Amino acid sequence: MSMMMGRRAAAANGRGKDKGPKAKFSQLWPYLTEHKGSLVLAATLSLLGAVFSLAQPLLTGQVISAVQEGRDLVGVVSLLIALIIVSTIAGGFMYFVLTRTGEKVVLSARSKLAQRMLRLPIHEYDLRRTGDLVSRVSSDTTLLRAALTQGLVDMAGGAIIFIGAVIAMAVIDPVLLGTTLLVIFSAVAAVVFTARRVRAATTKAQERVGAMSAAVERALSAVRTIRAARAEAREADAIITDATQAYKQGVEIAKISSAVAPIGGMAMNAAFIVVLGVGGYRVAAGITSVANLVTFILLLFLMMRPIGQAFGAYASTQSALGALARIQEILALPIESELGDRPESSTAKPANSTAIEFDDVHFEYAAVPLEDGTLPEAKPVLDSVSFSIERGTRVAIVGPSGAGKSTILSLVERFYEPTHGRILLDGQPVQDLTRETLREQIGYVEQDAPVLAGSLRENLLIGKADATDEELKHVLGQVNLTEVLERDERGLDAEVGENGIMLSGGERQRLAIARTLLAAPPILLLDESTSSLDGLNEQRMREAIDAVAKNRTLIVIAHRLSTVVDSDQIIVLENGKVIGRGTHSELVKSTPLYKELAKHQLLV
Ligand code: ATP
Repeated sequence: MSMMMGRRAAAANGRGKDKGPKAKFSQLWPYLTEHKGSLVLAATLSLLGAVFSLAQPLLTGQVISAVQEGRDLVGVVSLLIALIIVSTIAGGFMYFVLTRTGEKVVLSARSKLAQRMLRLPIHEYDLRRTGDLVSRVSSDTTLLRAALTQGLVDMAGGAIIFIGAVIAMAVIDPVLLGTTLLVIFSAVAAVVFTARRVRAATTKAQERVGAMSAAVERALSAVRTIRAARAEAREADAIITDATQAYKQGVEIAKISSAVAPIGGMAMNAAFIVVLGVGGYRVAAGITSVANLVTFILLLFLMMRPIGQAFGAYASTQSALGALARIQEILALPIESELGDRPESSTAKPANSTAIEFDDVHFEYAAVPLEDGTLPEAKPVLDSVSFSIERGTRVAIVGPSGAGKSTILSLVERFYEPTHGRILLDGQPVQDLTRETLREQIGYVEQDAPVLAGSLRENLLIGKADATDEELKHVLGQVNLTEVLERDERGLDAEVGENGIMLSGGERQRLAIARTLLAAPPILLLDESTSSLDGLNEQRMREAIDAVAKNRTLIVIAHRLSTVVDSDQIIVLENGKVIGRGTHSELVKSTPLYKELAKHQLLV
């Protein structure tokens, strides 16, 4: 637990403080090596382009000499034109290959994130904001593409031209080359120093984009409440505040990056003036020829573009590393199955009359770090909870709001692990089962928004991907939802709206029950909706619960007396403690809290 908290504090710090997560250059490699083929092709084209580009000034030098010496120009001029055409085509093709590779890198980063993001331990979602996670998949990944297309290969292509030009220049005039390199290297040092700051600035900018996405998600997910409370302006302001912060960080990056280009430009101008001065003197002194000086200057011009590109590429690679840090932060998190799942454990189901047993279970949620990164005192949510539920029985858990009822179901599902005590399924500790096996045997219907945007069919198929239409209609009938099917001519393809908004509260929950029933689990956990139902809906819900309770163990967090009274066992929970167990008539006599709750028809 303490390790988990340590990481939480670090993660929170990562969000709020200046020192964000960092990525190293080496972490970019795996993304590149996945696409070796495309990169080799791009590099080959780049090499070809570089060789052709290098040949152009050399041929131009030849043209000048040919003119001076009165030789035939046709051959050399035709070669020059052919080279220009081929290098242009090679350049275009290389651009396409690179852009496509960039897209592939984005796709692979997004796939990895999607695979991982849906499998994180549940406590990670408690800690993080959905919008921020969304922006890592959508926005941060696109910066990787920039690093590749404008970045690495530009640098590689530039390097080839640079090396080739340097060799040619060394042959023509080593002294001139020495002076040129001196000027260029001092510029390189200045650029590296400046561009390194882009990385940290990008991480911060992306954090702000993440915060903005989270603000948008928050506002849109509760848009009706916000509209009813006339809080549109305030929520829009909150989004704009985050957008402004992102803008400021963007401007910060622009400031740093814009310093890079003039440094490069200045260096090249300085190199040009030095070459003209020193070269002019050397021509006047008869040490070198005009043709050599012109070729040298053309080679210098040829170098200018790749050097400028390499400077820009370095800055955009730094920027990609800033975004990669946010991607790697999620990829580095362990997924749920890596936390305490024992793959070697038995998946056999031993015969036992007890379906679920809690044995002295204690639990507390990990505290959310405060602004300063410290952790507040964790509050016990379940305190020495023990009970056992016989197979095939119907059990209701009741108690005041916040007593810990939903937490009990979360622990059965192993969304969280108890801090102390054991939970057994069919007599076997749940830790000895893989989560997969455990969840195969348990259906779980959440209290809130258990319906996803899409059609009735899509919602049901989550429970069993290969169910036939007959099966779908059958389960809808079991939970009294045939009417929903009939009221829309599209039948199973009728849309339910975002979060199932086109259905009533009771219908939503019954649809969620129907979905769970498709998987036919032997145990069903049901967190009953608190929304009040009219007489007819209440009746339908009761019938639905009666239908699903047949031939299975049903544990229901009950908010309605009608759900509770027929239960084989009722567990009364208060402040995380079991204060009563028994049937309705027993508890009315033995447990004052239950008697009080029952008097008010429960609904707490
Ligand atoms: P209700 O009937 O209102 O849903 P409940 O009895 O089901 O309440 P729980 O949802 O189990 O109660 O919550 C018990 C306590 O744990 C509450 O104090 C709640 O604030 C806290 N809690 C619940 N979920 C989390 C979480 N994910 N992280 C931190 N604390 C939580």
